[in-house]
Amino acid sequence: MAALRFFFGTMGSGKSTQALQIHHNLTGRGLACMLVTQLDRQDGVVSSRLGVSAEALILDETVDVFRLVNSRHHQGEGLNAVICDEAQFYEPHQIDQLARLVDELDIDVYAFGLLTSFQGLLFQGTKRLLELADVRQEIQVEARCWCGERATHNARLVNGRQVYDGELKVVGDTTSGGDDGPPRVTYDLRCRLHWLAGKEDARQDSLFMDQDDVDAATSGQIDLTVSR
Ligand SMILES: [Zn+2]
Repeated sequence: MAALRFFFGTMGSGKSTQALQIHHNLTGRGLACMLVTQLDRQDGVVSSRLGVSAEALILDETVDVFRLVNSRHHQGEGLNAVICDEAQFYEPHQIDQLARLVDELDIDVYAFGLLTSFQGLLFQGTKRLLELADVRQEIQVEARCWCGERATHNARLVNGRQVYDGELKVVGDTTSGGDDGPPRVTYDLRCRLHWLAGKEDARQDSLFMDQDDVDAATSGQIDLTVSR
């Protein structure tokens, strides 16, 4: 029996690594697998921070995943599994299509994604996966907030300061940029307390800004924006 399995975790929890591991294990046993990803940032490659990578097909929100996989499935010896990275970015109807691959074609689907965005809300693709998956499993690699607590939230930092508004898809950069360049977007892992504390800080920031007292806002913020 095929199944739709959803593995979720924070950024840096090794989702891509695990996707690649499953791909490696299944293809090693002679099974036909298709590796797909969503965000067009890696030029058709799923790569992990540990240095492993494999070629992947990039899907955008216009692709009918069922039709695409179905046509591949009927070429040659058929497909045994589809492994989806960045599944949080799939459209809800594309998640429905993944479920049809399982139910109608008996193809195993392994989907990997983030639970919540930097805004602290479920991604639409994630929400649909939680609703439909046969198996939902949290990937836990003991990622930690700077305070030492377990990291459960993804924080987006713009020039080192946590933000809660903005485009959903912004690829982060983890290298240090110059001070003169465009705003530098990075991501950091936080426990819930410190993810929420950044929100309080952002509110205070805007109050301080109104009073033209940006220095005070900055000094009040330092403890909460330590990034590592
Ligand atoms: Zn913390």
